[in-house]
Amino acid sequence: MPQSFKPRGKHLIAGEWVGGEKTFASDPVTGPTYDFAVGSAAEVDKAAKAAEEAFWTYGATSRADRAAFLRAIADEIEARAEAITEIATQESGLPEARINGERGRTTGQLRLFASHIEKGDYLDRRHDPANPDRQPAPKPDLKLMQLPIGPVGVFGASNFPLAFSTAGGDTASALAAGCPVVVKGHQAHPGTGEIVAEAIEAAIRKIGQHPGVFSLVQSNIREAGEALVTHPLIRAIGFTGSTGGGRALFNLAQARPEPIPFYGELGSINPQFLLPAALAARGEKIAEGWAASLTMGVGQFCTNPGVAIALDGSDVETFLDAAQIALQKIAEQPMLTAGIAQAYRTGRDKVIGLNCVRSRLASKAEGRHAGPDLLETTGEEWLSNPALHEEVFGPFGIVVRAKNEDEMREIARRVEGQLTCTLHMDDADTALAASLMPILQRKAGRLIANGFPTGVEVSDAMMHGGPYPASTNASTTSVGTLAIRRFLRPVAYQDMPASLLPGDLQGL
Ligand code: NAP
Repeated sequence: MPQSFKPRGKHLIAGEWVGGEKTFASDPVTGPTYDFAVGSAAEVDKAAKAAEEAFWTYGATSRADRAAFLRAIADEIEARAEAITEIATQESGLPEARINGERGRTTGQLRLFASHIEKGDYLDRRHDPANPDRQPAPKPDLKLMQLPIGPVGVFGASNFPLAFSTAGGDTASALAAGCPVVVKGHQAHPGTGEIVAEAIEAAIRKIGQHPGVFSLVQSNIREAGEALVTHPLIRAIGFTGSTGGGRALFNLAQARPEPIPFYGELGSINPQFLLPAALAARGEKIAEGWAASLTMGVGQFCTNPGVAIALDGSDVETFLDAAQIALQKIAEQPMLTAGIAQAYRTGRDKVIGLNCVRSRLASKAEGRHAGPDLLETTGEEWLSNPALHEEVFGPFGIVVRAKNEDEMREIARRVEGQLTCTLHMDDADTALAASLMPILQRKAGRLIANGFPTGVEVSDAMMHGGPYPASTNASTTSVGTLAIRRFLRPVAYQDMPASLLPGDLQGL
């Protein structure tokens, strides 16, 4: 079968497909390899300048116009559905069903943001009427609403080639807010990035938006990412990736003459607290669910539940046996990149090398492949080895045997900031669960009872973020409609004539 989408291998900068002398080759798991231009600071500069120019009009578009634009992007993505699935499965190695689901999530979140801005609640409009007779000083008339922050830089994530990349949640929420976007594509899926950029470009033309409202710069060198974060016209950054990379870019954002908000979604081990009554009643079932969640997408989810903590005893043994049996059935699979597979083995071997863990299942996968690894340790060892608290990105699970409830609470106190924490509990566990809740609420953005954290709902009440290192800003989320707040800033208008107020404040 001939390939249905042949990438141009170019950047999309303000409506123009731009090549370059230097190229890098894509590294798909299957299918043909293509060459892509290597973007540098020069391409980022062009894209940022076009985004700034576009902001003067796009930032002032009506919510109805932006909603129509977001829906047009979703339609254009759907119009390329088969070609997107083909190239995304080839580049990422993720199965067709997963990519189809992720495409639905991507178009779903674009449409969700369209409906969200139409309602207008996100503007958080406030009015303090004037009181000229107030003593000792008259009270002014104050009106406040949220305005778009300006051009936004977005880093495509390796592990979600669609939903967290070119037209993913960061891009959708920034465009919804009224911010033009410059995407630095992830080199793990440049062809997928290009076809999605093509869909956005088609929507721009169809709706008649300024072409600078969206650009994609392809690159496999640090220079492009650094240039994006430090460009003076870029007003905020959305990032999903490693703690090391995210922290380096966060530091750059803060070291600018004019620092900007850097919304990085980084690492998380998403601890599972297995409380005793639940473990006794249904330990094997929980183990099967944990094994499935741990290995979904070869463990390449930020919500991967890498650690399970239980009170030591025979029920933990039953749980471990069941988890081992379930994990043994999972075949090794390709990871998103050879580098991520290598990083997985390095991280796993570092933990094994600590000599305070016992291996229950060791994968022998090589090259770009990975299979599940299962280890166990004691609460005491976990507490005294901070290296055990770090994320190992992949299908890696460790069970911690706490000697008593106090030690379990101490482990909860010592976990770093998390995207999620989970309690597996029955009614008889309520007192222990209640004693953990005040600790866990301070640790994570989302608390789950009797479920698993993978499969993040895109909705109004979702929170996907948490204290560092889960994210670089615990006050906000990268999934769900609240994500739009990242790209807004409040402006107050004092005694301003109605004719000078933004349309959304007219009549308030
Ligand atoms: P990454 O190494 O953090 O890279 C993400 C993006 O940031 C890439 O576009 C990368 O570009 C750029 N970047 C990283 N460090 C940079 C720096 N110092 N200066 C400028 N740009 C920089 O993440 P990845 O490539 O997706 O995967 C590597 C590891 O990240 C995984 O093994 C995993 O541990 C972690 N990860 C975590 C999550 C999560 O959801 N928490 C998701 C994906 C990956 P260049 O490659 O061109 O430098």
